Amino acid sequence: METTGIIASIKRYEIHDGDGIRTTLFLKGCPMRCRWCHNPECLSRKPELAFYAHKCVNCGECARLCPSHKMNADGHVFQRARCVSCGKCVAACLSEALIMYGKAKTAAKILPLLLEDKGFYDESGGGVTISGGEPLMQPEFLTELLALLKERSVHTALDTSLFAPRAVLKAVIDSIDQFLIDIKAVDDRIHITNTGISNGVILDNIRYLDSLGQNVEFRVPLIPGVNNGESSSFGRFLHSLSNTSHNIKILPYHGFSAGKYHALGLPYSCKDIDEEFAAMLVEETVRKLRDMGLNAIDGSLE
Ligand code: SF4
Ligand code: SF4
Repeated sequence: METTGIIASIKRYEIHDGDGIRTTLFLKGCPMRCRWCHNPECLSRKPELAFYAHKCVNCGECARLCPSHKMNADGHVFQRARCVSCGKCVAACLSEALIMYGKAKTAAKILPLLLEDKGFYDESGGGVTISGGEPLMQPEFLTELLALLKERSVHTALDTSLFAPRAVLKAVIDSIDQFLIDIKAVDDRIHITNTGISNGVILDNIRYLDSLGQNVEFRVPLIPGVNNGESSSFGRFLHSLSNTSHNIKILPYHGFSAGKYHALGLPYSCKDIDEEFAAMLVEETVRKLRDMGLNAIDGSLE
C-alpha cells in the first residue's frame, strides 16, 4: 500500500538548496524546536491553517462557510481554537490570506509536480531537494518518493538535521546524491538549550556518512548569542572527520519568518536579533573557519 506524506509546500526554481536549479519539497514534522526556525509551518506534523492578516480584504466569504471566521465592526476575526484544519475556507479566500500548510499526498501523486522542471534540472545539474521540518520523520513516504525519483534519473538532495535512527538513514542513503546537513552546535549544552534535544545522534550520523564517503555539505544558521562562539568547536569537529574538504556554509539569521509565526498563532522569540550584527558575525565566523583550513562559505553572499 502507498504511504501518504504530509507536505507543507513546494518551491520551484530554487538555487540555494543544493546544486543547480531545484524544486524543494517541504515535509511537515520536526523533532527539534530551534528558537530561530525559519520554517515554523513545518514544525507540527498536523495540517495547520495560517491567516495572513495583511492580505485580508474583509470580504466575509470565509465567515459564510465556517464559524471559525467571524466578521465584526473592525473586520475579519479568525478564531483559531475552533478551527479543525479541514481547509474548506482556503478556496473561498481570493486574496490568499488563508493558506493551509499540510496536505496529505502519496509519492505517486506528488511526482508529476516534481518532474515538471526536469529539463531545467538536466541543463543546470540540479534536481529535487527534500526538506522540512525533518524529512527523515516520514521515512516510508521518503523512501517511496526517492525510489520514484531515482527511477527517473533525478538528482536528489536531502536537507536534514540527521536526527533519526540509523536504520532510517540506512534505508534511504543509496537514493540520495547530496546531504545538506543543518548543524546548529557541537557543544551539546548549547544544542540542548536551543533546540530541545541532544546532538549525540546527529554527530554520530555525520561520522557515519563521512565514513561512507557521502557527498555532504554542512549548513550552520549563525544565531547571535546562540552559536556564534562555536567556530573552534565546528572547526575541531570537521577536522576529526576523514574528509575535511566538505563545504561548511554559514547562514545569516533573518527575521523574515516572523510573519509566518504570527499567521500560525505561534510565539516568535527572536524578534530582537539585529540582522546587520548577525551578518557581521557570519563574516567573522567564515574567516575563522578558513584560517583553520576549512571550506567555509559565506551564505549571505549567495
Ligand atoms: S480550515 Fe476548515 S475549520 Fe478551519 S477555518 Fe477553514 S473551513 Fe473552518
Ligand atoms: S475570505 Fe479571506 S479576505 Fe475574505 S474575510 Fe476571509 S480571510 Fe479575509
